[in-house]
Order: sequence, then C-alpha cells, then structure tokens
Amino acid sequence: MEKDAYSTMDYWFSLVSSGKESGGLVSKMYKVLAQEIPPILSVVGERTCNLQCTHCIFQAERSSSAISYDYALTEAVGVIMRQMGPDPIVVHEGRVFRPWHLEWLTAIRKIRSDSRVGMIDNGTFLNHADVIRTSGFKFDWLDISLDGPELVHNIQRNSRQAFRVAIHGIKNAREFVAPSGRVTSLFTLTSVNYASVLDVCRALPAEVDEWHITTLSPARPEIAGLATTDEQFAIAWRQVVSASRERQLFFRIYVNNDLMKLARAAGVEKLAEAFGNAKIADVAALFELDGVQVIYYPTSVVVGEEVILDADAFHRMPYSIAYTLEELRSDRSRFGEDTRKYTVGPVNNSTDLSAQLRECVLKWKNKFGLTALQKEIEMFRKILGERR
Ligand code: SF4
Repeated sequence: MEKDAYSTMDYWFSLVSSGKESGGLVSKMYKVLAQEIPPILSVVGERTCNLQCTHCIFQAERSSSAISYDYALTEAVGVIMRQMGPDPIVVHEGRVFRPWHLEWLTAIRKIRSDSRVGMIDNGTFLNHADVIRTSGFKFDWLDISLDGPELVHNIQRNSRQAFRVAIHGIKNAREFVAPSGRVTSLFTLTSVNYASVLDVCRALPAEVDEWHITTLSPARPEIAGLATTDEQFAIAWRQVVSASRERQLFFRIYVNNDLMKLARAAGVEKLAEAFGNAKIADVAALFELDGVQVIYYPTSVVVGEEVILDADAFHRMPYSIAYTLEELRSDRSRFGEDTRKYTVGPVNNSTDLSAQLRECVLKWKNKFGLTALQKEIEMFRKILGERR
C-alpha cells in the first residue's frame, strides 16, 4: 500500500486548525491511522488489585490469572511483539505485578531486543522482590504513583498503607531498573489532591528521575465526580507552573474538558499561541505553556497510541478497562450497554496485527472517533477563535 506523505496528526491539525469537518481530510486521517502501528503495547497483566483507589478507572475485580493461562496471554504477547514496529515500547499496565508475569516479560526480551519494557505499579511489586531478583529481569522504567502527601495520597487511594508502600517502592525501584533506565512517578489530578501539587513536587524522593502529572479519566460514571472544577484546576495549574520551575515535569491531558479548563486557567489567547507552535509526536500534540511541557492526546485518534492486550488475551479499545472482564466477555455492561464495541478480537497464532489494527481503527472511528473529532473541532474553534 502506498504510504501517505502526511501523518495522522498532520491531518488532525489541519482539521482542528481550519475549524471545518472536511470529509476528505477525515477519511485520509483515518486511512493513515489504520496504516500506522502504535508504538506501544500495553498489557493488562492482572485485573485485580490490592487497592481500590477512589479515582481508579478499573472496577473492583477478581484475579484474572486463571483466564490469562486459559487464553495463553504469554503466547499472545509474543505474537504481537513479533509484529510491532521498530523500537517498541511495552507497558505492564498493572494492575499489580504477579511472579508469573516474568514469563511474558522475559519472552519480550528474547523476541525483541530493541524493545523497552516499563511497569506501572503501586509499590507492591516489592512483595515479589526475590523472584524478580532471581530472574535477572530489569525494567527500562518503573512508574510508582504519588497522588499527594501521606494523608491526601491515602485518602485518594482508600488505604492507610498506600503512601508508605509507594514511597518504599520508589526508594527501592532502582535495583529493578536497567542501568540506563528510569524511575518515574505519576500524579493523577483530582478534586481530592488539586492543592497538593507543590507539596508532592517537593516531597518526591530523590530516586524519581521523571515526574508526570495527568488529569483523572472520568471513563466510568462512578468516579466522574472526582474531576476538578474550574476553580480547583486553576489552583492546581498555578502550582504546576511553580513546580515546573523547581523540576522538570510533563503535564498530560487526555480529556477535552480538562484542555478547556487549562484554557480558562492559563488564558485562551496564551493556549492558542502555544498550540500554534505545537510539535507532533505519534498521536499527541506537544506544546509549552507557562513554561510547562503539555502533551495533549486527542480522543478522536487516541487508538493510535497503543495496542491494548487485555488479561484474557483479547485486543481491546482505549477505555475498555473501565469495564470488568465479565462485562466485556458477556457483551453487556452493568448498565445494559453493549460492550462489544470495546473488543477488537482475540490474539492467537493466526493473528495478523496489521489487519487487526485496520479493523480496530475502523471500529474506533465509527463508534467513538467521529463524535470525538466533532467535539475537538468545536473546542478548537473556541480556543483558536480569530486566529484561524
Ligand atoms: S489506581 Fe492503581 S493502585 Fe489504585 S486501584 Fe487502580 S490499579 Fe490499583
């Protein structure tokens, strides 16, 4: 197939900058998106967690280890890894580390020596320190979240121990990371911790090489109330700006409402100017605002960010993790919604990743993407106003 001279984000920029939903550009954008292999494979290794944080996109679930074995998750990881593009990134999406995950983690190293493998964890990986040590496996990065000083973190995480476990995890992470690897930490901004950004910035253990802040994903209705108000976001943004003078940080936005809150907090004109100078990376726009590195991921094309391999070895859509495996596998959510739109298909030895990605993009476009794009065009109409 002939390669397009423009990328997905070139088309996306053109659409939101013009403020018009040109059918021709939309078709070209999704055609190109369907040809691009996402740079990341995200593996949901375990559906249960020792915590049930107030802001968690996952619901309380039982362990998925048995179903992962039944559906050969390790083999499915190998099938996808062999078909990923150059220098693939693998994310152990959690929710918690299990010793048997070393089967597929070590397999990745053998299959793709050019891969980088990271894990998002809450600090409990240290419960299995000996088995990881014995395996010799080293992560390229380990991310352990801190959502506030002790009291705030524990309230957000619904646990009296969570902060202590996370700090212990961060302080001991280096041993499990390759010499060239990084220890990172993520702060998820909510209505609970919006005033704690600077406190966390100053309290981050010295072991943290990279700090990321993102906003709550209100993908399931039970947690949507934890999103910040305009006022709370503005307080948080002032602290983010001050914090960025003290250490490098990255502010990630996946939620359009939060981009509008940012526009109101920093000033619409300023955001419009920063956006005008944005750089493109995969399916994101990178820009600097008030000295802060902001990364915005448009929902319309977010399916191009990563291949999501669920615990039952099924290729799934973004936001599918807001549903339990039971909801996804029975095709019905707890609200009676048809969940088939979140599943692309099983991954096994006969899976052709490129063909499955074409199906995935088509489904995303029809079920979610076009509606999201319309909202993004409207939103940027307001932000860019006369500048267009
Ligand atoms: S946010 Fe992380 S630690 Fe908290 S319940 Fe969800 S997966 Fe577990």
